[in-house]
Amino acid sequence: MSNPIERDTVVSAVVDILREAETILPQDVVDALKKAASKETSPVAGEQLEAILKNIEIAGNRKVPICQDTGILIFFVELGRKALLDFSLEDAILEGVRIATESIPLRPNAVDPISRSNSGNNIGTGIPDIKYELTEGSSIKITVAPKGAGSENMSAIKMFNPTEKDMIRNFVLETVLNAGGKPCPPIIVGVGIGGSFDKAARLAKSALLENVEDMNEEELSLLEDINSLGIGPMGLGGKTTALAVHIKKAHCHTASLPVAVNIQCWANRHSSVTLGGDE
Ligand code: SF4
Repeated sequence: MSNPIERDTVVSAVVDILREAETILPQDVVDALKKAASKETSPVAGEQLEAILKNIEIAGNRKVPICQDTGILIFFVELGRKALLDFSLEDAILEGVRIATESIPLRPNAVDPISRSNSGNNIGTGIPDIKYELTEGSSIKITVAPKGAGSENMSAIKMFNPTEKDMIRNFVLETVLNAGGKPCPPIIVGVGIGGSFDKAARLAKSALLENVEDMNEEELSLLEDINSLGIGPMGLGGKTTALAVHIKKAHCHTASLPVAVNIQCWANRHSSVTLGGDE
């Protein structure tokens, strides 16, 4: 028997995860930054990492956003097929965003792409971006990942010829090199390989939610190459250009090989809540 999920519960949970995401960095990211600080031999790189860690500490203590760019809001919703809802989940998420924008507060970042008029509340056509996935069970898991423009703008996608799989590594390295210090390194690199044009981009973005320490051999080897570029913390040189690389793959058309690289800054913000479930 499933527990019904109330609209007010969803609204306040969205406000809570937004507050947590914006003010407290996930512990795995903080630990990776500390580890990087202990390894840097360049005084400038070490100072940058210490300043980032101090920033994180102050934001957590004062319950204020980690960065002034509180991002465009991306939601990942895992919707249990037996979840009992008698309201619009999307409306409830939007209300949570509206409340959080005023109460945290968040910078209003949602603008019309052409007129650039700002909605003032982080809500607009297609924004926040809510990605739904139907799952088993009766609970709903909502994850929010605020995404700053500095890192998002340096991301890239390319439709390779299927014979060009050996060029994927260079494409990732070139994307990171071209980004330089603009995405506020140390970065997290999400790579989506396969699917379609949009699926590759979604794979790359969802890869940013993975635990930074949890990398396979392929990812660790790419991380090593990225860190050998020497861009370093905030682009001022050093050993730590990236904290992690995560690669997600999907089958694709026999004539296609889409590859997307989604770059995330050190402020790798995300938070989740699970609501409902079986009695
Ligand atoms: S790239 Fe990240 S850390 Fe840099 S300004 Fe944007 S949100 Fe802030």
